[in-house]
Amino acid sequence: MTIGLRLRQPVYLAAGLVLAVCVVMLVFSSLRELGLRRDALKAAEIDVANLAQSLVQHAEDSFEMADGLVIGLVHRLEAEGTGPVALARVQSDINFRKGAMGRVRGLFVYDDKGRWLATSENVDLNAFNNSDRDYFKYHKDSNDPGLLIGSPVKSRSGGQWIIPASRRFNNPDGSFAGVVLATIDAGYFANFYRRFDLGRSGIIAMLAKNGIVLARSVDNETSVGRDLSNSPLIKDMHGRPSASVYYFQSAFDGSWRLAFYKMSDRYPIIVVATESKDEVLSSWLKEAILRMMLVLIMISLIGGTGFYLVRQLLERQRIGAVLVGKEADFRLLAEESSDMVMRIGFDERILYVSPACLKIVGWSAEQLTGTPALAGVNPEDLPHVRDTVHQLKQGELEETKLIYRTRHSGGGEIWLETALRATRDAVTGRISGVVAISRDMTEHKDLEAKLATLASQDGLTGLANRRHFDELLQTEWRRAAGDETPLSLLMVDIDNFKKFNDQYGHQAGDACLKAVARVLSAEARRPGDLAARYGGEEFILLLPNTDEVGCASVAARLRESLAALNIPHALNLPTQRVTLSAGGATGWPGADAANNHPSLVAAADRALYAAKHSGRDRFVMSGQVVAWRGVESA
Ligand code: GH3
Ligand code: MG
Ligand code: MG
Repeated sequence: MTIGLRLRQPVYLAAGLVLAVCVVMLVFSSLRELGLRRDALKAAEIDVANLAQSLVQHAEDSFEMADGLVIGLVHRLEAEGTGPVALARVQSDINFRKGAMGRVRGLFVYDDKGRWLATSENVDLNAFNNSDRDYFKYHKDSNDPGLLIGSPVKSRSGGQWIIPASRRFNNPDGSFAGVVLATIDAGYFANFYRRFDLGRSGIIAMLAKNGIVLARSVDNETSVGRDLSNSPLIKDMHGRPSASVYYFQSAFDGSWRLAFYKMSDRYPIIVVATESKDEVLSSWLKEAILRMMLVLIMISLIGGTGFYLVRQLLERQRIGAVLVGKEADFRLLAEESSDMVMRIGFDERILYVSPACLKIVGWSAEQLTGTPALAGVNPEDLPHVRDTVHQLKQGELEETKLIYRTRHSGGGEIWLETALRATRDAVTGRISGVVAISRDMTEHKDLEAKLATLASQDGLTGLANRRHFDELLQTEWRRAAGDETPLSLLMVDIDNFKKFNDQYGHQAGDACLKAVARVLSAEARRPGDLAARYGGEEFILLLPNTDEVGCASVAARLRESLAALNIPHALNLPTQRVTLSAGGATGWPGADAANNHPSLVAAADRALYAAKHSGRDRFVMSGQVVAWRGVESA
C-alpha cells in the first residue's frame, strides 16, 4: 500500500498540477470578467451622472427663464397696482413677449380671489377661477416671496400637463394681492429627455423634492403628478449627498436599475437618470460568455489531455508494478533452479545469470555478469549459436533449443542444452534481448557416444561389428573412387576352430577369438584401417589406399603375429597351434565403374575359400593361382 502510494505520488502531483492550472485559469478569467463587469458599470455610472448633471442644469435654466418672466410681472404689479390701466399695460406686455417665451408655455396673473387678470392664452378671462389650485392656496397663506414650483396640473386652458412656477405679489401694505404664474409643459421636458439614448429601458425623470413626478421620458402622460414620496430615494433624502449613484429594484418591472440623481441647488427639483443594469451589462455579458466559453474549452482541453496523460501514467505504473512482481517471481525461480538461467541483453552481454552457473560452468554469477554471453562457446558450434541468437533478436524465431559445447572454468569443455527465448520490452513491445536456460548435457553426451559405439561394436572382441564394417566399406569405396586410390580387403578365418572349441571348451574358444582380434587391431595400423568381426571366427580387415602388395604384407604380418603368440591347438595339424587362413582382394573403384564393393567382398571370400582348400594356414590373393586339390585358381 505504502509502496503503491509512493509509486503513484508523481502521478498525483501531475494530476494536481493539471487541476491547479485549470482552477487558476478559471479563477483568473472569472476575476477578469468581474473586473470588466465593474468597468462596464462604472462607465455607465459616469454616463448617467454626466447626463443627470447637465439635465439639472437644463431644468434650472428652464425655471430661471420662467422665473425671470414672473419676477418682471410681480415687480410691475407691485409698483403699478392692478388698476384697469395697469392691467391693460401688463396684458399688452405679456402679448408683446408671447412670441419669445421659449420653453415657457404660458403666463398668468390672478388676483387675491383667484380670478384671471391677464394671460398669454387666448381665452375669456372671466371663464376661469384658479383659487382652488394648490400653488394659489400656498401663496395666499404664506408670506414667502420666493418662486414656488408646484405639483403638475392639467392645464385649464390647454388640457395638457403643466408645471407651475409662481410667485405672489403684494399690495403696497404687504397683504396678498395675487399670484403670477408661469407654466412649462411637462411634455417639453419629456420630449427633451427622450432625445438621450439610455437604452430601451432607460428613463429620465424630473421630480419635485417632495416626490411628485414633474416629467418623465417614458409614459409621461400617465406618470406626471404621481407621488413617489414613499420611494426610498425621496424618503431618505435627508442626509443624502446632493448627487449620487444608486441601485434599486424597479417598482414597475422588478428589474435592477442603475440610477443617478442630482438635486438642484437653486430649485427644489431632482433629476434622476436610470438605466437597466441588464442592458448596461449586455454587451459585456455577450463578450464575457464568448470569452468564458473559450476559457472553458481551453480548460477542458488541458483537463482532458491531463486526465488522459495521468491515466496513461497510472496504467504504466500498474504494468510496472506487475512487471516488478513478475521479475521477483522470475528471480526466485531462477535462483532456486538447478538450471543456469541467463538474461542476455540486445548487445549479447549477460545482464543476469542465476547462481547455478557456478555448478554448471564453474564461474560465479559476479564473474559472468556483464561479459559476452557467447564468449565460451566452442568455435565449431559458435556460427550456429550466433546465427540462432541473431534470428531471435530479429524476431524471425520466438524460441528454440540448442546443444553446443562451451568452456568450463576447470579448462575442459561441457555440453550445454539451452532453451532460448526472445524477450520483449513490456512498454514498446520491441525485442529487448534473450532469455537462456542451460542444462549440463555432458553426461548425456558421453552416454550417447557410448551407445553409438556399442551399436557399431562387437561385444566379445571389441572390434567393429559387421554392420559398422558394411557402412564403412561403402564410405571408403566412394572415397577411393573419388581419390582414385586402391582399396584392399583381407578376410581371415581361424583354422579348424570347431575342433578348438571341442578340445578346449567354448570359453577358451572365446579367449582365442579375443587374442586373434587383438592381433588384428594391432596390425590395422593406419588411421583409415578397420578391423571387424565378420561373424563367428571370421574377421575382416578394411585397408584403404592399399594395393595388392600392401594387402599381402599385412596378411603376412598377421600370420606372423599369431604364430608368435603360439596358442596351442592340438587338433590343428601340422603346426598344433592356432593358425589362420586369409583371402585378400584389391579393388580400384575409380578405374572400373562395373566394380562394386560387394564384388570386392566376394573376391576376398573366394580367395579365403581357396586358402582353406589349398591346405589352410596361408594367404591367397584374389586372382592368384594356387595349388588346389583338383582346382587351380581362386
Ligand atoms: P575351417 O578350418 O574349415 O574353417 O574349420 P572350422 O572348424 O573353423 O570351420 P567352421 O566354420 O565350420 O566352424 C566354425 C566354428 O567356429 C563353429 C563354431 O563352433 C565356432 N565358433 C563360431 N563363433 C564362435 C564364438 O563366438 N565362440 C566360440 N568359442 N566358438 C565359435
Ligand atoms: Mg569359419
Ligand atoms: Mg574356421
